[in-house]
Amino acid sequence: MCGIIGISSNKSVSASIISSLKKLEYRGYDSAGIATLFEGKIKEVKSEGRVDTLEQNFDLKNLKGNIGIGHVRWATHGVPNSVNAHPHSSDNVSIVHNGIIENSTILKKYLIKKGHVFKSQTDTEVIVHLITENLKTNELEEAITQTLKQLHGSFALGIVFKDIPDLIVGARRGSPLAVGYGPNENYLGSDSYALKSMTNKITYLEDGEFCIIKKDQVLFFNEDGTKINKKILELSSDDASYEKGDFKHFMAKEIEEQPNTVKTGIKEYVDKPNSEINIYNFPWKIDEINSITLIGCGTAYHSCLMAKYWFEELTQLDVSIDIASEFRYRKNRFKKDKLYIFVSQSGETADTYAALDLCKKNNMKTCAVVNVIESSIARDANFVLPIHCGPEIGVASTKAFLGQILILYILALKLGYLRNEINKEIYKEKIKDLQNLPGLIEKSLLVDNDIQAISSTFNEAKGSMFLGRGFSYPIALEGALKLKELSYVHAEGYPAGEMKHGPLALIEDGMPVVVLAPRDSYYKKTISNMQEVIARGAKVLLITNKSKDEIVSENIWETIEVENTNDDLLPFLLTIPLQKLAYYSALKKGYDIDKPRNLAKSVTVE
Ligand code: GLU
Repeated sequence: MCGIIGISSNKSVSASIISSLKKLEYRGYDSAGIATLFEGKIKEVKSEGRVDTLEQNFDLKNLKGNIGIGHVRWATHGVPNSVNAHPHSSDNVSIVHNGIIENSTILKKYLIKKGHVFKSQTDTEVIVHLITENLKTNELEEAITQTLKQLHGSFALGIVFKDIPDLIVGARRGSPLAVGYGPNENYLGSDSYALKSMTNKITYLEDGEFCIIKKDQVLFFNEDGTKINKKILELSSDDASYEKGDFKHFMAKEIEEQPNTVKTGIKEYVDKPNSEINIYNFPWKIDEINSITLIGCGTAYHSCLMAKYWFEELTQLDVSIDIASEFRYRKNRFKKDKLYIFVSQSGETADTYAALDLCKKNNMKTCAVVNVIESSIARDANFVLPIHCGPEIGVASTKAFLGQILILYILALKLGYLRNEINKEIYKEKIKDLQNLPGLIEKSLLVDNDIQAISSTFNEAKGSMFLGRGFSYPIALEGALKLKELSYVHAEGYPAGEMKHGPLALIEDGMPVVVLAPRDSYYKKTISNMQEVIARGAKVLLITNKSKDEIVSENIWETIEVENTNDDLLPFLLTIPLQKLAYYSALKKGYDIDKPRNLAKSVTVE
């Protein structure tokens, strides 16, 4: 969370900083700010709200300086206002920070005693004063090493100094940070996306490392302050994926891209002529894996839950799932014959990374399912299964969810076959069905008119419920989450069979309830549960692959029909109308669809 940019150049940097901050806004957007060094002074501008507001409030064209740092914030400590916005500065030092300083209260007391005066409520400001203090008695590199040792918690930092005006310091622990190389200028960014328009030559900092960036040189150091050499990576340039094109929102574009997401995933892992799944370089023998734990947060956690159903059904392995923020602090019993799978779009999700780190320290088998292959989770796991869905900019995840569940399904299918739990004929049949999936998703996308008409009912209601059983249950949870994230409407996802154990009490006249009831082995049971909510006044939106004529139930408010495919693949098709429901509800309310309130992409704080 939060976006950081730093540029050291031989020309004025403010325009490039502003355009990078606009790109970074998906990571945090409650306030924004810039600091540059000019004529021996730190020039700082910051304001509450978006980068646009910063531009309106200040004459940024005249913000001079060849060195500068910028920040878009996702507040953890202190309300989002202009005082708490980054950069935070002392007379000599200005800082932008991503993360949380856990010992900030103790450090603040110590620094106040030393005479430092604090202006903001943030944890970040202690870093400013701590470096200022350490610079009194140390040269730059020692002051940085010493400061980083005194900080507990997670951070990515960009720092400039009035008295050392030709450089930017970057430092990383727990939050990602990249260095970019350009002609007569070098950059610091919280992800490569921020730097993409300026360079495709990138170096990622590892935890504990820091760097000194000058316009013509970059030096790297480990946490002891020893100089180190690091590789420069060349990123592919796929700039079109970073633009909205003709779409009103990134989310709308990303929903429509899903047939392609699935096509690309299938191309990557399925050998079409031989109807075979290829997972190259899988590092373990099949009998070395006797159970699986899948770990994620938010939508990625729903992917894990979805995968649990498939892995159990297809591989007959013991499968558990865990929310990363719970897993990392629980007393886990680590098992050598278990495969730990970590699911994260960005590959930087702080809790998921910490869970991976814990497994690595216990020498477990770790596999990452991520979108960003240069990410920390991808780099640190034993084995990576990229989802290849291209950049996902909308904060609410759509195509990455489909990409994640696709890869997890492919893995489950392959492991099931290798474990002899599914025979060759069924295996080949399922691979064939998989190849038809992109076309079916394409057809399922044609529900806009129906969904638009329905969406106001969800906006007007006090709350809504999303019900499903079996394979449809994780999708119900994901549908409810999408509606909450985008329309700020209270929505609960529930296993349909669980309603009578409590949540049925919430149903009142006119309450919209989405029932996912595809023609699978759970169909009849789900329909009975649907009748129970209808009997209590619910307005049911039924999503099914049964045709309207086949549905015998009465008093259903609306029905959305999805395409037919085998039971395993129905969750993909059920997901689409729910994404569109959330999208159109938010659109009708006029909310900021790509940047929902209080949220941000790439959750790099715990
Ligand atoms: N903890 C810092 C703050 O609340 C940084 C938050 C961020 O990562 O944007 O200002």
